[in-house]
Amino acid sequence: MIGESPNEASPVGDLVADVLVPVAVDISYSYKVPPGMALEPGDFVTVPLGTREATGVVWKTRRSASGSNLKTITEKRDLPSVREPIRNFIDWIARWTLAPRGMVLRMGVRAPDNVGAEPIRIGVRLAGPPPGRMTPARSRVIAAAEGGLLFQKSALAEAAACSAGVIDSLVDEGTLEAVSLEAEPVALTPDPAFGATLLEADQREAGDALAASVETGKFNVTLLEGVTGSGKTEVYFEAVAAALKAGLQTLIMMPEIALTSQFLDRFAARFGVRPAEWHSGVAARKRARIWFGVASGDVRVVAGARSALFLPFKELGLIVVDEEHEAAYKQNDGVAYQARDMAVVRGQLEQASVVLASATPSIESRVNAEQGRYKKLVLSARFGGRAMPDIAAIDLRVNAAPRGKWISPRLCEAVGETIGKGEQALLFLNRRGYAPLTLCKSCGHKFQCPNCTAWLVEHRFRRALVCHHCGHVERRPDTCPECETIDSLTPCGPGVERMADEVAELFPNARALVLSSDFSGGTERLRRELEEIAKGEFDIVIGTQLVAKGHNFPHLTLVGVIDADVGLNSGDPRAAERTFQLLQQVTGRAGRGAKAGRGLAQTWQPDHPVMRALLSGDTERFYTEETNARQRAGLPPFGRLAALIVTGNDRASAEIHARAMARAAYAMAPSARWKTAPLGGPPSQDEIMVLGPAEAPIAVVRGRHRFRLLVKAPRSADMQGFLRAMIAASPPERGGVRVIVDVDPQSFL
Ligand code: ADP
Ligand code: ZN
Repeated sequence: MIGESPNEASPVGDLVADVLVPVAVDISYSYKVPPGMALEPGDFVTVPLGTREATGVVWKTRRSASGSNLKTITEKRDLPSVREPIRNFIDWIARWTLAPRGMVLRMGVRAPDNVGAEPIRIGVRLAGPPPGRMTPARSRVIAAAEGGLLFQKSALAEAAACSAGVIDSLVDEGTLEAVSLEAEPVALTPDPAFGATLLEADQREAGDALAASVETGKFNVTLLEGVTGSGKTEVYFEAVAAALKAGLQTLIMMPEIALTSQFLDRFAARFGVRPAEWHSGVAARKRARIWFGVASGDVRVVAGARSALFLPFKELGLIVVDEEHEAAYKQNDGVAYQARDMAVVRGQLEQASVVLASATPSIESRVNAEQGRYKKLVLSARFGGRAMPDIAAIDLRVNAAPRGKWISPRLCEAVGETIGKGEQALLFLNRRGYAPLTLCKSCGHKFQCPNCTAWLVEHRFRRALVCHHCGHVERRPDTCPECETIDSLTPCGPGVERMADEVAELFPNARALVLSSDFSGGTERLRRELEEIAKGEFDIVIGTQLVAKGHNFPHLTLVGVIDADVGLNSGDPRAAERTFQLLQQVTGRAGRGAKAGRGLAQTWQPDHPVMRALLSGDTERFYTEETNARQRAGLPPFGRLAALIVTGNDRASAEIHARAMARAAYAMAPSARWKTAPLGGPPSQDEIMVLGPAEAPIAVVRGRHRFRLLVKAPRSADMQGFLRAMIAASPPERGGVRVIVDVDPQSFL
């Protein structure tokens, strides 16, 4: 029988293990430990689960008088044990996000399932006399294998321009000898002394401080705030070197790791080898090997996406969160966690150093530093005495683009000058595709997604209309489906693909490239294109926010922002911060090489505080104002937020359930740990408030109707306890209704 862990423990009785299984349940299940099986918390075991068997992890062992009623553990698995700090981390995240513990465990233990057999690699070398019958192909093989070196079979076949069969036949004849090659190590050991960088004085100071923090062997967090191009990477490499010397492992987290081959090369230049890479683009079998290497300690440094946070490090001494302000650190599906914040939690549980690096830190991290919870190091100038880009606004009210175009005459002139000098220009527009809306000129029909409240975005390269929320794709027709007029469909508004048309008209001889994540060829293509841009193989680059992420383009001297206002007027409490960060990052791509750079931002609101801060370069003033505004409103980091998203098969069921949840919250007796403020009541600094429900801005996604509730709590309140109580007091989810809990929401759509 499977039952929830009973609490009684007795010195005698059967030995029982509480096992957490990686499925969507919060509780661990109790099993009898068979005689002779030695189990410790953290051990992997196979257990019967319903009608099947599952792999789980022992959370606790104890004696129980009623153990004989339980099912028995099938076997102990030969996998590295889940260390205590990692078990605590899993419990911590589950408590914080309200996700079932089994789901959190799943994120950390899926990888080893994909070990599979390593393909056996065969090497061949010249060993015996020539074959009885010589053919041109055979003689090419023998010539290529001259010297007795060991070749990989496929490499030799390629060198001799023949098939693998020719090689096999030469092995059969004894001319070649086959030897099995040792499996390649999953990652080589980085050498802290390999290519030490000569740091400038302020870089040296910061690098030494980070190294000293690592050497304490104690938990600490440092915010490394350095302007774009100040050398933050070189500086935190000093912390990596210190961890390597101290025999500790390092995790470097990046928001778009799949795209940063530049980073991997820089790491190799500094430490002699590339770090192990961890992201969804790495093959499953390779990931399994990295998982084991991390657990055994063979892998010393991992560069990874947010999921790397769940790797079973054996002796973790340093976590670097690069571009810590990036919204990409928030996972929104499944377990909704903020990887930057959870990196700090993991650092604390592991007694590791944490470095948060950014040119435009989040308000959260800035406030943590101001309040003394984090140390702060500042790099205020670019490396090598390079100037910060000169940023100016183009006021679209007086310098508008021609009708149906988006490049203003002033920006056009600046691009012309730049490429005329043989330098590179970047046009930034955060909109994928050709046009965000397609409309029939004749009847006004607009193309909407059948599953979502969203317009379909035309992607001309793919000849398709695409929904950016659910992925729905349909062919762009030639006639209007509503009024059947031929050739009446017209694109409205710009996307990067449409900018490419405009650029081709204005600069027919320029080498232009659209950089976007949705072209065929995926990550590999993007990596290649980013390298080509860095080498100066394009004159004009048109890109989405993908180009803003920490890349180094030495030939780039002009960044033109097509629509600096986009995003400013959304309902997101972080809208101003996000826009400021994005614009600062994008314009920060300019002038990182030997020549000075400039940024030109096209805007309808040059007097908006975000634009003024960007233009004046008065970052401190912007942060101060934005921080004060957050404090007045009790928004993060001065208060906490959680979103409850109620979805249903139809609008009414979602709305009824959402309203019932709000009512349940107000009916709850105030506890010593929380009080609730009534709906519409005056805002209060020390009570938990439940706002809404309101229909979500995107009211339907994937056919599901959505209502949102927002819970706002003071920092001191037990928000998770409140959420649990509120959900428990709400009606059960039924009739297709689902409630998604998003603690620290980053998206308000
Ligand atoms: P950030 O991450 O702060 O924008 P990077 O670390 O990418 O800056 O550095 C910007 C550029 O300056 C890179 O090309 C880097 O190699 C170079 N750089 C920074 N510091 C040094 C240094 N001390 N010696 C040589 N090159 C440096
Ligand atoms: Zn859709």
